[in-house]
Amino acid sequence: MNFDLDAKYLEIQQEARELAQSVEHIACEADASSELHPGMLEALQASNLANLMVPSRYGGRFEEIDPLAICLVREALMATSSHLDSLFALQGIGSFAVTAAGSDAQRSEWLPRIATAEVLPALALTEPVAGSDLKAVVTEIVPGEHGFILNGSKSFISNAGCAAFYVVFAKEGDSFSMVLVPADAEGLSVTPTPELIAPHVLGEVEFSNVLLTDDARLGPAGKGMGLVLSTLSVFRVSVAGAAVGLAQAALEEAVRHTRTREQFGKPLSKLGPVAQMLADSWTEIEMARLLTYRAATMAQSDPAATLPHSSMAKLAASEMASKVVDRCVQMMGRWGLVRESKIGRLYRQARPMRIYEGASEVLRLGIASELTKIVP
Ligand SMILES: Cc1cc2nc3c(=O)[nH]c(=O)nc-3n(C[C@H](O)[C@H](O)[C@H](O)COP(=O)(O)OP(=O)(O)OC[C@H]3O[C@@H](n4cnc5c(N)ncnc54)[C@H](O)[C@@H]3O)c2cc1C
Repeated sequence: MNFDLDAKYLEIQQEARELAQSVEHIACEADASSELHPGMLEALQASNLANLMVPSRYGGRFEEIDPLAICLVREALMATSSHLDSLFALQGIGSFAVTAAGSDAQRSEWLPRIATAEVLPALALTEPVAGSDLKAVVTEIVPGEHGFILNGSKSFISNAGCAAFYVVFAKEGDSFSMVLVPADAEGLSVTPTPELIAPHVLGEVEFSNVLLTDDARLGPAGKGMGLVLSTLSVFRVSVAGAAVGLAQAALEEAVRHTRTREQFGKPLSKLGPVAQMLADSWTEIEMARLLTYRAATMAQSDPAATLPHSSMAKLAASEMASKVVDRCVQMMGRWGLVRESKIGRLYRQARPMRIYEGASEVLRLGIASELTKIVP
């Protein structure tokens, strides 16, 4: 068993670190904004890292999308900017249904431009009435004269307003389908989502009598839920990568502070309870990182079969990140509370990770259900 990353992954990690470093000076400004930051987009385009999100036959870097490579990039980017991390992650999350089930025409039209980050995608699942319980969606497609008609509202959609297309999950009869809706479709409109504690490019998307032809389908009618699951199988573990990067960045802030600030005649880092918080945090980050890399490696061979491990990694790493960043704020005393400081940003950014792409409680249900099936 080899726990070291091989040369291919070390190279990708290095590229991601260089990208993160190049945007350090605009990270605070971008992370405070719920609108697309042009400097971040330009940096992502220049890095060529978005080509990890598309298979090589459509302009991507590798033959197939590689979950470990994506985890490593998210780990590096999230340590510097959640805005950049999200921009990168969405290139894959928003376009995966096109890769997995798009027609040749849809793939050729969109994927090469996803790979260069010339266009941005969005994945529209959540609705005002449907969050964790996706089967409760009411957005619907019904047959129309030249294809079908889409009506409904999607809520908290990343990249809404700047995406070139929306991959939309909708009810169709008694089952669910996925369709691709270009952003300029007549009847599609976007309004702002309320500002979050950790700003994020989000919007509310309304579809009002949007007319679509059969070419807009992603995969066969009634197979939309399968496409949601395959997207999660590949990308859920990448949230764990981002959470590990966030926790590592928080710990480094706390280390720099506690080894120089003295109280009671000693650096804080040498005071027992502070040393314990540092040690526990480092240990927990290492545990989460190992699980994340393992789950991402497993997801490469059979993403659907290994979804429980991706869920475990996402659960463990996002819960760990919240705990670690909270400790780091504590160790930094009043400086941990400064709103625009790096630690202040990381503290707020850790919180949504336990809610999106599967809330912790919902993940636990899935993990426990799998466990009860496999134990003989
Ligand atoms: C920053 C951000 C970006 C997002 N981007 C997108 C996007 O691009 N596309 C998109 O479609 N959606 C997006 N979302 C929405 C996200 O997917 C939902 O927030 C998520 O699915 C949870 O749904 P909800 O918020 O409606 O919570 P609810 O489903 O209302 O759940 C609330 C809480 O109830 C508990 N709970 C729910 N169900 C269960 C259960 N079965 N058992 C036990 N406890 C349960 C959990 O604690 C959960 O946190 C985004 C959200 C955020 C915060």
